[in-house]
Amino acid sequence: MNKMVCTQCGVVCLPERITPGSVVTEIVLFICGILPGLIYCIWRLAGQYNGCPACKSKNIIPITSPMAQPFLERLQAMKASQPVSTASSTDKACPYCKATVPISQNTCNCGYTWPSK
Ligand SMILES: [Zn+2]
Ligand SMILES: [Zn+2]
Repeated sequence: MNKMVCTQCGVVCLPERITPGSVVTEIVLFICGILPGLIYCIWRLAGQYNGCPACKSKNIIPITSPMAQPFLERLQAMKASQPVSTASSTDKACPYCKATVPISQNTCNCGYTWPSK
């Protein structure tokens, strides 16, 4: 099965077969009588759809679709930004040009010099 992108939560996933309603309701209706239970059971099976396993949304699009590209780019950007935040303990940002400079270095490439402690 092809990978899909959920437009609801932006997650890349394999679609899951989702059945609407709940098993509890179905059991309750079966206790009330065979007919309501049966109708509910048929309604649930008829309403089955492929959806996002994370948020149960029907709004999933194939990963190959052009509409999925902005979501994939956002995911990629999120992944790319993570190593920067974890490496912040060894780097400092220049207040002048926003460049990342190793914490041991006191002068930025733009000429900004950190005040010595
Ligand atoms: Zn989702
Ligand atoms: Zn700088």
